Amino acid sequence: MTTAERYDVVVVGAGPAGSLAARAAASGGARTLLVDQRAELGQPVQCGEFLPAPEELADIFPFPDVIRAAYEIPSGSVLRETNSMSCIAPGGRRYRFPLRGFSVARRSFDKALALHAEGAGAELRFPSGVTRVRGGSVTMASGAAIEAKVVVGADGPLSTVARGAGFAPARQLYRMITASSVGEFPPEIDLFFGSVAPGGYAWTIPKAGAANVGLGVTRLSRGATLGRLLDRFVRSLGLPPAEDPTCWWVPIGAPPGSAVRGCALFVGDAANLVMATNGGGIPTAMISGWDAGQVAAEHVREGVPLAEYDRRWKEHLFRPLARGHRLKRLGDRVASTDALLDFGMRYIGASGLDAMMRLRWPGRLGGNS
Ligand SMILES: Cc1cc2nc3c(=O)[nH]c(=O)nc-3n(C[C@H](O)[C@H](O)[C@H](O)COP(=O)(O)OP(=O)(O)OC[C@H]3O[C@@H](n4cnc5c(N)ncnc54)[C@H](O)[C@@H]3O)c2cc1C
Repeated sequence: MTTAERYDVVVVGAGPAGSLAARAAASGGARTLLVDQRAELGQPVQCGEFLPAPEELADIFPFPDVIRAAYEIPSGSVLRETNSMSCIAPGGRRYRFPLRGFSVARRSFDKALALHAEGAGAELRFPSGVTRVRGGSVTMASGAAIEAKVVVGADGPLSTVARGAGFAPARQLYRMITASSVGEFPPEIDLFFGSVAPGGYAWTIPKAGAANVGLGVTRLSRGATLGRLLDRFVRSLGLPPAEDPTCWWVPIGAPPGSAVRGCALFVGDAANLVMATNGGGIPTAMISGWDAGQVAAEHVREGVPLAEYDRRWKEHLFRPLARGHRLKRLGDRVASTDALLDFGMRYIGASGLDAMMRLRWPGRLGGNS
């Protein structure tokens, strides 16, 4: 019989959520293991690779100190700075508003964050998949067993840790496809709404000499595929065929009432912590990861109850995320056709769309509680 390795904290998944959790746990003195099933972190790219600037993020989640600590954008991963976003209605009308941000390369972004966790003292292992979690017992694909006082589920929307712990937040998965298209693009994020991407949007996000192009949908009509929709979208913009398409999911369901089950803490996509109106989940993954890692270390060091994690992430993220989810649901109900979307977007205008992207009600539609 082989004996199990023992750690204070095992973090499953070295995406942005897991790397921040591992960094915070190791910095807090916990003996921490960070594992990922991928052979290369950040690869394949399943992301639009856009990040808002920290001050824009603080406008949505007003905790500048947390953002300063957790929301690190490694400079080597930045490809372009952007300064505005445009929402383009089905009829072609463009609504533009200022938004400072960056396009990054997830391949270097994810690697850099994992290396920073390692630099803080976490042990990093990949490719190293987890097949089963029961309480603090973690079984690796190799068959090896690991025992942990705390397990952090940072393994994305199809989380194995969540299955093992009986954590089942209300999942609502956006189907997404992303690819790259060669060309010169202005420093602006373009989001195209309507039947181009039913229930979601299509995008171009400028990179160096190329753009990340893709789309996310909540529904597909009979015979439609993500690949065909993307081809049609790219052709409609006169761009060359998109290269390296990959498909994945974004969980846009409501944020959970609790992200703690027994000795497991859930972060990022595994906990549904995505901004539903804009589909962005990296910043919230990093903040929730940071909160979870800190609490895990305090639990190991001083016996702080793990429920403290719920208190922290909810303070930092819950209200805007829940509001974003309500806004998205209302938008889907009201603007169900291209004509209604054209009308709705004209009615709320650029400032209303700007508000919605920031998880706020458009001024014309009411309050922001
Ligand atoms: C097409 C697309 C475009 C997007 N565009 C943007 C964008 O522009 N900006 C933005 O902010 N967000 C965007 N998102 C959302 C964003 O990618 C996610 O919200 C974010 O990556 C969540 O981070 P995470 O660390 O929780 O999960 P992930 O980044 O998914 O990381 C999970 C990690 O867990 C690992 N893992 C999974 N299962 C196991 C296992 N059993 N054992 C070991 N390891 C495991 C995976 O290999 C992976 O590395 C997009 C998503 C998609 C699909």
